[in-house]
Amino acid sequence: MSAHLLDLSTYCTNLDQPVFALHELPEEVVAVLFAYYSRSPLPLRDNLRRVLAEDLALMPGHTPTGDGAAEYAAAEERARAFHEKWVVGYGHGSVAEHAVVHLAVEEISIVASKALEDCRLASYTEKSTRYVPFDTESYVREPTIATGPLASLYDETCRDLLSTYGRVLAASEAAARAEIERPAGWTQARYDSVCRSQACDVARYLLPAATRTNLGLTINARSLEHTLTKLYSDDLGEIRELAGALHREAAVIVPTLVKYAAPNAHLRGRRAAVEPWIDPQPDAPPVPATNTARLVAGPAEPLSDVAAAILFEAGAGAWTTLRTQVAAWPAERQAELLTAYLRDRERFDAPGRALEQVTFSFELTLDYGAYRDVQRHRMCTQLGQVLDCRHGYETPPGVAAVGLADDYHRALAASEAAWERLAEAHGPAAAQYVLPLAWRKRLLMTANLREWHHFISLRTGRQGHPSYRRVAQDCWHELHRAHPALAAGIRVDLADYDQARA
Ligand SMILES: Cc1cc2nc3c(=O)[nH]c(=O)nc-3n(C[C@H](O)[C@H](O)[C@H](O)COP(=O)(O)OP(=O)(O)OC[C@H]3O[C@@H](n4cnc5c(N)ncnc54)[C@H](O)[C@@H]3O)c2cc1C
Repeated sequence: MSAHLLDLSTYCTNLDQPVFALHELPEEVVAVLFAYYSRSPLPLRDNLRRVLAEDLALMPGHTPTGDGAAEYAAAEERARAFHEKWVVGYGHGSVAEHAVVHLAVEEISIVASKALEDCRLASYTEKSTRYVPFDTESYVREPTIATGPLASLYDETCRDLLSTYGRVLAASEAAARAEIERPAGWTQARYDSVCRSQACDVARYLLPAATRTNLGLTINARSLEHTLTKLYSDDLGEIRELAGALHREAAVIVPTLVKYAAPNAHLRGRRAAVEPWIDPQPDAPPVPATNTARLVAGPAEPLSDVAAAILFEAGAGAWTTLRTQVAAWPAERQAELLTAYLRDRERFDAPGRALEQVTFSFELTLDYGAYRDVQRHRMCTQLGQVLDCRHGYETPPGVAAVGLADDYHRALAASEAAWERLAEAHGPAAAQYVLPLAWRKRLLMTANLREWHHFISLRTGRQGHPSYRRVAQDCWHELHRAHPALAAGIRVDLADYDQARA
């Protein structure tokens, strides 16, 4: 074995401290080394030496010598057996969480990006509709529709939406430049960016769900295998194709750990299994005038429960005793305890974990653009319905301000007409591609009070887009109506701003 392979300093940030970082090792080897912690009395660096001595082929940069082909084949077989034994055969998927993959995902539709981002145990950054303009050809052709008789209707609708988007964008940017004077001290680049993003915020309602987007994904192998299985089992062709592409590329980095990802009969059949229970005449609530949030579920005595949880966390006694004791307090005393628990928080200090003891559900009816942002919250459960035309659409005041309200409503009406024909021919999941981000979607979002603190304060912030700011403000108002003492502790910005970006 060459000497440099045994020099652990290539792989460990130090050789003599109890805390060190690993680098330059294949992700699967990292997973195996951490797995040894649970079964081996040896420290990690000793196990790494053993791996280096026995499993050369696992190390990066290793080139076989001598009878190259034979040695390489033997080494590959050893590597395979090694992973089978230690990773797959270990009997618990948690080992795979120590292997992490970074995947760049480009030119997928917004619909596919949402399906991928449905996985909560991962990190994402996605091309912004608030900062980046899109051109007329920036859309994905849904594979089933693209080969069917309505392909040209699909193309016409997407192009019409994107060209109306382009006109609204240009007019709104010109209006922003006329309206906003460049403040002293701003660079031209900053001024340009503020005017452009102000315009993007207005125009984005016209982007079809088929719009092409890019995203970066960082995910551990366990979570990835589950996500691939889900995507492989989706009804939509683009999403199944995406699963194949993600699988192929991830297999270069963590082949053993994603080997069981495959279409799943249970996931594929679940929708059909529920179908007989669905009322063919669904509820037809009045179309809301704007995005809304309604508090639809929560505990009977949340303030009392939170107060008891605060005392429990402080070690004051057993849960049932504290709960009974605190329930007998007047509400003012419970509220005072909560205020004391939350006091002296700086801007970025999250409230304590006792707030996780209570959970609230809100039914949100919000435009797909706002949903795109809300969906990125992971510390919650979101049940979304397929995007359709039942809940109306949002109209930003900016389109009338630049004299393009008629164009806007005409493009929305055309998208609805196309959607109806496509839904009939290909089903509602495929048809949603031609609906622009203005159409509203219904979502049930359940989160604990700690996450509602985070959601409401982040999403009502001045820099936020007006359509999700309104939803988050609505959540706060609803909570405040039902549980004023709980809402009082939440940082909320209830103001309206003409120029959010200035
Ligand atoms: C004004 C604004 C603009 C934005 N623009 C973009 C954009 O252009 N593109 C884009 O992709 N995103 C953008 N984001 C961020 C994106 O929307 C966030 O992912 C989303 O707000 C979810 O909130 P969160 O990350 O704080 O975490 P949540 O998922 O709500 O979780 C709550 C908290 O849990 C912790 N947490 C959750 N998951 C993890 C994790 N995997 N690792 C570590 N900690 C975690 C964090 O402390 C987090 O604050 C923007 C956000 C804002 C407010």
